[in-house]
Amino acid sequence: MNPVDLRIGPALVVPVASAPFTGYVEVTAGVITHLGPVPTEAAATTTAASAGRIIIPGLVNTHCHTSQQLGRGLGDDVDLLTWLHDRIWPYELALTEADAELSALVCAIEQIRNGVTLIADPGGRHVDGMARGLATAGIRALLGRSAMDSGEGRPPGDRESTDEVLAPQDELVVRWHGKDRMRFSYTLRTIFNCSDELITETVDRARRLGTVAQMHVAEIPEENEHCRATRGTTTVRHLDRLGVLGPDLLAVHAVWVDDEEIALLADRGAPVSHNAASNLKILGTPRIADMLDAGVLVGLGTDGAPSNNRMSIIDEMWLAAIVQKGVRRDPTVLPAEAVLRMATADGARALGLADVAGTLEFGTAADLVVIDPLTANFATAADPVSALVTALKTENVESVLCDGEWLLLDRRITRVDESAVLAEAADRAAAVRRRAGLTIS
Ligand SMILES: [Zn+2]
Repeated sequence: MNPVDLRIGPALVVPVASAPFTGYVEVTAGVITHLGPVPTEAAATTTAASAGRIIIPGLVNTHCHTSQQLGRGLGDDVDLLTWLHDRIWPYELALTEADAELSALVCAIEQIRNGVTLIADPGGRHVDGMARGLATAGIRALLGRSAMDSGEGRPPGDRESTDEVLAPQDELVVRWHGKDRMRFSYTLRTIFNCSDELITETVDRARRLGTVAQMHVAEIPEENEHCRATRGTTTVRHLDRLGVLGPDLLAVHAVWVDDEEIALLADRGAPVSHNAASNLKILGTPRIADMLDAGVLVGLGTDGAPSNNRMSIIDEMWLAAIVQKGVRRDPTVLPAEAVLRMATADGARALGLADVAGTLEFGTAADLVVIDPLTANFATAADPVSALVTALKTENVESVLCDGEWLLLDRRITRVDESAVLAEAADRAAAVRRRAGLTIS
């Protein structure tokens, strides 16, 4: 019998796709080769003792602006258009490719520390830099280039035609799709800044590549008003009329949608990325419980550092659940099991990567998180699976395996000198703020 690369256990294993059990996970060549109450008889090249630990699938962050990591704190206490026009666009314009690389690396480190092994980046300007940062960190990612070809408010020097937006994305596919742990994903910023031609061409390209297109959808009431004025109907209805609403268009936020639009999202199989904290901070509160009742596929996302400040899917799980219970005044909505699935299996499905990530099963990628429950916030929990949503905190994440490689081991980032990276990032963030004229602090 050939040896296995890694045997972890005994631990409480929560595969999400099947019932929790106490036992072992075995990994060979980056793939799960055994799950069960007893280990196989094969020798193990390495083992990880995990008595008392909980093993869950790597978490999935369906909306994570890696190039905004150096802009944390730039968007506090302002409305969306001030946030975008006066803070984020100047920040993004001041960012160099080297800054974007460091920003993505620091963002990925924070994600890994929060148990995330797969992120969807809705796009920045310096995709090569972002890709290098993510490759250094080792995390799985959908890469994107921020795509805008129209609309008012764009800063000078940042205006591109439809072709100028699409052609570089086609080149990026060649360069990065399938490289390291990355895939490319075509992106659309918002209906304010995307022509119908760009929208249809983008989704067409995503379909041909077999990837999802990501788009910010129905973020604020003014967006629907703008869409009505320019296209005659609301964003979701317009996207459906264009024939692009479907499983390959990830609708990010979807805060301002009515019953008919929720039914459209469900009928067309269009997934939604729910970003509870960023929504509450800037946009409003989406009807996620209603969407789940209607059969909409929902994953969770953090958004970017200036939109959320906390970039933790662990926090998002807790917040998503508790906010929807309050909104519906019904404590039974978004039960813990469903929320854990949103942060894992459903998130992976929303990104079109259910075959790669989101569950622990024989033959799936070895992306998993080892949770240490022996902390004051968790140790006494009556139901450890429920506590993964209600009590879990970032500090419970002990180790993170991605593609069979430890990216976090015993709370230490394995690939880079984390302290040195963070010190450089703090200096670089201050330099970007100075160049952008953003002297907030
Ligand atoms: Zn976003």
